Amino acid sequence: VTLGIRGKLFVASVALILLSMLSADAYLAGAVDAMLTARIREDLRARLEIALALAERADIALDDSARWQDLLQPVGRDAGMRISVIRADGVLVGDSNLDASSLQRAENHLHRPEIEAALSGKATSAERFSETIGERMLYMAAPLERAGARVGAVRLALPLTAVDSTVRRVHHLLLIATFIALAVAVVTSGLMSRWAARKARLLAAAAKRMAEGDLSTRTDPQGSDEFSALGRSLDTLAESLSSTLHELRSERDLLGGILDGMQEGVLLIDASDHVALVNPALREMLLLGNDATGRSLSDLVRDPELAAILDRARNSQEPGVGEIELGGLKPRRLLVRATAMRGEPAGILAVFVDVTELRRLEKLRRDFVANVSHELRTPVTAIRSATETLQDAFVRDPRAVPMFMDIIARNADRMHRLVEDLLDLSRIESREYKLTIEDLDLSHEVQSIIALFRERADKKRVRLIVEVPEIRSNIRADRRALEQILSNLLENAIKYCGENSTIAIRARTEDGNVLKLSVEDSGPGIEAKHLPRLFERFYRIDKGRARDVGGTGLGLSIVKHLAEAMGGKVGVESVVGSGSTFHVTFPRNSASGKAGGSSQEALPNSKAAS
Ligand code: ADP
Repeated sequence: VTLGIRGKLFVASVALILLSMLSADAYLAGAVDAMLTARIREDLRARLEIALALAERADIALDDSARWQDLLQPVGRDAGMRISVIRADGVLVGDSNLDASSLQRAENHLHRPEIEAALSGKATSAERFSETIGERMLYMAAPLERAGARVGAVRLALPLTAVDSTVRRVHHLLLIATFIALAVAVVTSGLMSRWAARKARLLAAAAKRMAEGDLSTRTDPQGSDEFSALGRSLDTLAESLSSTLHELRSERDLLGGILDGMQEGVLLIDASDHVALVNPALREMLLLGNDATGRSLSDLVRDPELAAILDRARNSQEPGVGEIELGGLKPRRLLVRATAMRGEPAGILAVFVDVTELRRLEKLRRDFVANVSHELRTPVTAIRSATETLQDAFVRDPRAVPMFMDIIARNADRMHRLVEDLLDLSRIESREYKLTIEDLDLSHEVQSIIALFRERADKKRVRLIVEVPEIRSNIRADRRALEQILSNLLENAIKYCGENSTIAIRARTEDGNVLKLSVEDSGPGIEAKHLPRLFERFYRIDKGRARDVGGTGLGLSIVKHLAEAMGGKVGVESVVGSGSTFHVTFPRNSASGKAGGSSQEALPNSKAAS
């Protein structure tokens, strides 16, 4: 059974009261008894002196019972006590409380302890229960002497009923006191425990609120008892907990902010290989949902290379480093660096860096260097072998000299063009090639460029058609860039078309503010599989043939870059056997609709350079 504070206090006070009352009772009863008995003994001794004097003076023979009775009975009655005279042989010769017949029948008193002592000369008292009277009695006897001889004893007896009733009364009073004390104890322990319980309940409620997270709770104790001390301790505890919690929170928020803002992916896995932390960047890289935390890593990412990197980190002092490839809709390449955390809690921290773009650019650069070297090797080899042969030819066959000179010249020219194209491209890409965007009359520009190609077209019997309306042909572009774009496209068209074909240059308006310029030929056409890559650097369809006709594979790439630098787009459509159409779009001058193709009427503020 568990007792509350109240029960315990009550039991303790009852036990205390009972214990003190019992010991008081035991002590008081004994003390009262001894004290009263001692008083009565004193009284008895004084009376005995008187009785002895009386008996000594009375001139009565010791076998004359009748006269002794006459003497003793009134004295005994008046003094309220029993007086007995006993002969030296123990026979009772007179007794104030007995009549003549009882006296006859009374037993010999020789062996009563007080009589025995008196007959041997000593006055003593004895306490005993009297069978004759039926009460507890105190006896006292003294020797009776006559003419210097001991002839018997005189004995007095007083009942001890007064002592017994006093002790009984003491018992009674103590019992009443016990009941009163018990009643007081019930009331005071009740009050005390109610007060204590109320304080304890208040403290318990405050502690509960604190435990539930309300650390602003205070007990605000008054006074200086143990409850107030406990309350103050609780308040201090809540205070320090709340400040620690605050620190931890701001630290966590800071860390969370850093992790959220990081571009790198961060993964923390615990000792049992479950995800303890994953930041948003990594969630996006690995296409993980919001429920990734707490799940087993092997369930989320099945990548043997990642598992190997983590294993290396787990089993060695060095961090595990490696790259993983992720397939799927958005293929990525991630650089992973994993470090084992040996502290508490143990786990592995892995940082992921998306190197997809970096690796792509690296590959692009490698390919570019390889392509350039490859393109240059052919003319260099040709020039080298031609010069070697030339040395012999001067001696053996001077007529062949011009042929070798021609080879050298052609290849040098080819190298020159290649280098020029590369320089152009790199200038455009690094934005060194400063474009001056201005209002241009497209029909006018086309006419002047066409003029440069007329002769070459005529020589190859190629017909050039221009369908660029003078009206609404105002565009915003850089003159040199436009020239280069159109030249490259025309050059290709003439180069790759057979004799007697037709090349048409057309322009038309696309959704209001864009002008689309197209160069259409009736040449051999291009297979569809080449079209998506046609504008890449060094991309050529028939490498051998294209190189023969003098192509560098950079022409269309330059067209694309220039068009894009001016805010336009390039495109190509082609049907094998019937021809190809290349087109470039240019932003139109906003005033060209009303201006009727005249650049002089353009608004001054539309001349802003890009
Ligand atoms: P190149 O300097 O070799 O002409 P380009 O970038 O100008 O390089 O052209 C890339 C490739 O596209 C050429 O090798 C050629 O095969 C093909 N090509 C370009 N224009 C045409 C065209 N009008 N008709 C057919 N093929 C063409």
